[in-house]
Amino acid sequence: MFLCRLILFISMLMVPALPCYCWGFYGHERINFFAVFLLPPEMLVFYKRHIDFLTLHSVDPDKRRYAVKEEAPRHYIDMDKYGKYPFDGLPRRWDSAVKKLGVDSLNAHGIVPWWVQVMERRLEEAMRVRDAGRILKLSAELGHYIADAHVPLHASSNHNGQHTGQRGIHGFWESRIPELLAEKEWDFFIGGAGYVKDPLKYIWARVLESAAASDTVLRYEKALSGSYDPDKRYAFEERSGKVIRQYSKGYTIAYDKKLNGMVERRMRQSIYSVASFWYTAWVNAGQPELRTLGAPSFSAEDQRLFDTLNQRTFAPNSTPYFTPCDT
Ligand SMILES: [Zn+2]
Repeated sequence: MFLCRLILFISMLMVPALPCYCWGFYGHERINFFAVFLLPPEMLVFYKRHIDFLTLHSVDPDKRRYAVKEEAPRHYIDMDKYGKYPFDGLPRRWDSAVKKLGVDSLNAHGIVPWWVQVMERRLEEAMRVRDAGRILKLSAELGHYIADAHVPLHASSNHNGQHTGQRGIHGFWESRIPELLAEKEWDFFIGGAGYVKDPLKYIWARVLESAAASDTVLRYEKALSGSYDPDKRYAFEERSGKVIRQYSKGYTIAYDKKLNGMVERRMRQSIYSVASFWYTAWVNAGQPELRTLGAPSFSAEDQRLFDTLNQRTFAPNSTPYFTPCDT
């Protein structure tokens, strides 16, 4: 028995320390995938044809995160750095916020709502000129940032429970729970995409919801861990040929129950938001004909970047719940 545990412990030490990712690869891929089916027929015909691309490239921004300096702040915003809810001291418009706080300070605490606005405009432009490659690339990546804005811990500076002795909670909420429950128990029949009249206002509303929920995410796990047998909180599992230590199935289900469906609700809301932003870009671009768009062509630079990012692809389902977020 002791030998067995020792071998497991040594195996665990041999697992490389990997960075953690927003929504996990699984979550981002599912969100972009399901969003396609909320689109009207004029868009669906094109998006469904390229659903593999939209799914695969939903995680490019995370793969880029540790290589490109400017990338990291685009995935979160530490709302608690701006006082208390509803954070009235922080101007919602980028130009007003820059005027008040300066670019460096804003970047230091994350810029996700404004980056969503930038990406939405770029997508609109790509639609206007009917550039199939850019439409797909921007749709895939816009989906990523929108989904991140829906994650409560992406709106808190205590994003991995590092200030409260809860390291690992980031991946617990956004990767472990969905991977365990989404496929079998959650419902992703959501209806149709809606037109977003004011994208910036819309994404700010989602960010404020995330900020308001972040306290619950942390507090409930703290309470649960206090009443749960410590020996049963984690389990060793083999994934992609490696033994890893992760939150046990029982503990994951208990936490999800305590959150009362929060993760599923945020995932559903993410899917709706992603589809609605794609749809809005298309409407604002004058509803270009997508049905007849040819195969996407990518520049040599795009192709080179795809190849580089692909090399950063970890084995499927390898999201490391056990490693602390290092950002
Ligand atoms: Zn991200």
